Amino acid sequence: MSIEDNIRKVTPYVPGEQPVGKVIKLNTNENPYPPAREVGEAIRNMNMENLRLYPDPECMSLRKALADRFDYDPENIFVGVGSDDVLSIAFLTFFNSDKPILFPDITYSFYSVWADVYNIPYERIHVDENLHIKKEDYYRENGGIIITNPNAPTAIGESPKFIEDILKHNKDSVVIVDEAYVDFGCESVVDLIDKYKNLVVVQTFSKSRSMAGMRIGYAIADKNLIKVMSDVKFSINSYTMNQPALQAGIASVQNEEYFRDCIDKIISTREYTKERLESMGFTSTDSKTNFLFVTHKDIKAEYIFEELKKRKIYVRYFNLPRINNYLRITVGTREDMDVLIENLEDICNL
Ligand SMILES: *Cc1c(COP(=O)(O)O)cnc(C)c1O
Repeated sequence: MSIEDNIRKVTPYVPGEQPVGKVIKLNTNENPYPPAREVGEAIRNMNMENLRLYPDPECMSLRKALADRFDYDPENIFVGVGSDDVLSIAFLTFFNSDKPILFPDITYSFYSVWADVYNIPYERIHVDENLHIKKEDYYRENGGIIITNPNAPTAIGESPKFIEDILKHNKDSVVIVDEAYVDFGCESVVDLIDKYKNLVVVQTFSKSRSMAGMRIGYAIADKNLIKVMSDVKFSINSYTMNQPALQAGIASVQNEEYFRDCIDKIISTREYTKERLESMGFTSTDSKTNFLFVTHKDIKAEYIFEELKKRKIYVRYFNLPRINNYLRITVGTREDMDVLIENLEDICNL
């Protein structure tokens, strides 16, 4: 017997690099625009004396703001420290079967990490040769399902009808839909939570709301599901959300116009960049996200990744089966993308 025998060993999730110094950072799908001005004001206007007090463990003010926006009750909303926290609690709460949970082989790589750390059996279901999820593959016994829509890193979005078909065939297990990128051109299934009591929709402030540094995510679901998630949370850490995060979150949710403006700019830059890359010999999936998933007809993705890095442009490369000749490129400002395009033209010898 040694200490080693008692230690839980896991292979952790590896986030994209956060380089120091000046680079063009297109590797972790952050928003290139700052959060709404009101977000900064809300933090500056806080009474700092109140920081001596614990925050509201129920996070009621932020849940109310989100409930108003989505036209549900606060009891339909769970908030956490980024959607990674929310998803992790959801895995722990809902995936306790001996049957495997199902998710695509190409998707957010955190899912298998949580399944491993919580000892949840899982099966990765192959996406088709065009990287599309095949919904029929999810019409079978399982311990739960998690689908990212639009999917990452493929950027492909599916319709609410597609998700509803999966829900219809899985009334006995919880289906989590991770909508981290839904605001960039896909339709949410949040309207289906009354009809499907087994649906959990998870969204985040990190991408479309420009607040990755603030760490806010949330789940929207039937009140019974939110209640059990909350019970699990209160069994681990009562005070997950700090006071500035609650205030900043409320200010962001209440500013729909700025939010829409940023999204419109990103979508138009995305389509511009996609066209330019295609004229250079890249092919791209039909992105409904704030990133492009591209492959070049002649030049290896890994080579392009390394060359861009030398030029202080960071994109994401996954050395994983089936996608090891693709790059995931976050949509930055129009100026960032023009620098990227110029450098790619040089690397591709055009
Ligand atoms: C970015 C991302 C998350 C996590 O975002 P948080 O910053 O933790 O809110 C979750 N799921 C997917 C698919 C993502 O891309």
